[in-house]
Amino acid sequence: MSELLSNFIGGRWVAGSGAGTPLFDPVLGTELVRVDATGLDLASAFGFAREQGGAALRALSYRERAGLLAAIGKVLQANRDEYYAIATANSGTVKNDSAVDIDGGIYTLSTYAKLGESLGERRFMPDGEPARLGKEPLFQSQHVLTPTRGVALFINAFNFPSWGLWEKAAPALLSGVPVIVKPATATAWLTQRMVKDVVDAGVLPAGALSVVCGSSAGLLDQLQPFDVISFTGSAETAALIRSHRAVVQGSTRVNIEADSLNSALLLPGEAAGSEAFELLAKEVAREMTVKSGQKCTAIRRVFVPEALYGAAAEAISARLAKTTVGNPRNEAVRMGSLVNRAQLNSVREGLALLKQQATVLHDGAGHALVDADPAVACCVGPTLLGVGTAAQSDAADRVHDTEVFGPVATLVPYRDAAHALALVRRGQGSLVASLYGSDPKALAAAALELADSHGRVHVISPDVAAQHTGHGNVMPQSLHGGPGRAGGGEELGGLRALNFYHRRSALQASTEVLAAL
Ligand code: NAP
Repeated sequence: MSELLSNFIGGRWVAGSGAGTPLFDPVLGTELVRVDATGLDLASAFGFAREQGGAALRALSYRERAGLLAAIGKVLQANRDEYYAIATANSGTVKNDSAVDIDGGIYTLSTYAKLGESLGERRFMPDGEPARLGKEPLFQSQHVLTPTRGVALFINAFNFPSWGLWEKAAPALLSGVPVIVKPATATAWLTQRMVKDVVDAGVLPAGALSVVCGSSAGLLDQLQPFDVISFTGSAETAALIRSHRAVVQGSTRVNIEADSLNSALLLPGEAAGSEAFELLAKEVAREMTVKSGQKCTAIRRVFVPEALYGAAAEAISARLAKTTVGNPRNEAVRMGSLVNRAQLNSVREGLALLKQQATVLHDGAGHALVDADPAVACCVGPTLLGVGTAAQSDAADRVHDTEVFGPVATLVPYRDAAHALALVRRGQGSLVASLYGSDPKALAAAALELADSHGRVHVISPDVAAQHTGHGNVMPQSLHGGPGRAGGGEELGGLRALNFYHRRSALQASTEVLAAL
């Protein structure tokens, strides 16, 4: 039997009392480790984090807590090779794709360490200037943000076992709020190992960071009014969390990052083969294949003027055809596997559904697997679908509401700019849309049109061709999250991320008292 990974709760390592759920290598099919959370004393675990971890963190200033983030970053940096090995084995990702998760997490930590430095030695954050409450300036209102005295519970998705932890933990710890993370079972190993390395290095106060691997049963029942929960995953699970007693009755604050039908849009007026056209084709092919399309921000819908449909299909397909798929250990392979068989089946089912309203422009099934047994490996080639005409773009409702969490995107032709924007909005709120064009005024106007329904609008003109950070790359400086279907959450965005972990209060007092804060 494989090793059973322990949980870290209440300041110690505790094994679950059950047999455990095995984690697999999605390429070779071998069992790697097991996780189990049966029989854990979750009430004590949450109490310990809240009381010991919270108090210890709040006793520090923002600058001191920023120092903790920098120390975590150093520990992770020192163990990077091990993390890459775990990612290859458990996520089936090639090195570049593992980097998005592993180095993306370390980069986000270091960004928050720097931001935290800038907050200095204080222990609360003033929010705006004092406002006079009467005729005389003596009695005023000053808003302040203070860290919530609870636990931050993170329930994470399988696709980012590293970044998914650190992009949430960095602002939480910087705010002075202890963290309990429950990674998705399929890829919990990397999260558990990172927490283990940080715990072993002794860089955090007791209770500041805990990890529960395995079933989520009972976790939400522990939540109290000053705790917060941050969830990343499917819309179905999100709905369960939103309707949980703690959230409904205790007003426990909740942040949801769910699925999204992200768009890429080539504005009207760009010729086939123009710089903007090529930038779109390149980014679509990249987004479809990075992490085998298992990115919440990946491009799912590609909008082009009807006259350019054929040329765009050809340009994107030509790039996809060059993608070698298979065992990530083989240097020739550019795209590894999906995370497990359940995801492979789900991608196949989603594709079948989309194919009822779209035709295949590039068939992933045509990619022979390199160094991998098709009967075992959860690998699948990239597939580009298309809906053919602008009229069909209106009728093809599935394209606008079915997220296939794999290397799949659909080309959607439009009549004019207004039609394109209306089609993009049929995603009902997304994490990100990217725009491609060369007319700054048209790009700016389209960006503002889409801003209310997107957490981020990524605008690419030829002048930033060599500098832009990529449609799907979530930069800690920018907001991550999206309205509506995307979950309605907000993460990152520099220091804005700290708001979630702080409570706002208006202090009404004399000018002298406010000056003494
Ligand atoms: P999922 O099935 O909803 O699982 C997400 C997490 O919820 C896992 O940790 C899972 O644990 C846990 N969970 C399952 N049932 C639960 C319950 N009843 N109560 C509490 N927790 C529960 O989603 P997934 O399939 O792993 O993730 C893929 C989806 O996530 C995609 O739709 C993708 O778009 C979305 N996603 C969004 C973002 C974003 O930032 N917006 C980022 C990444 C992924 P187990 O693993 O143990 O079941």
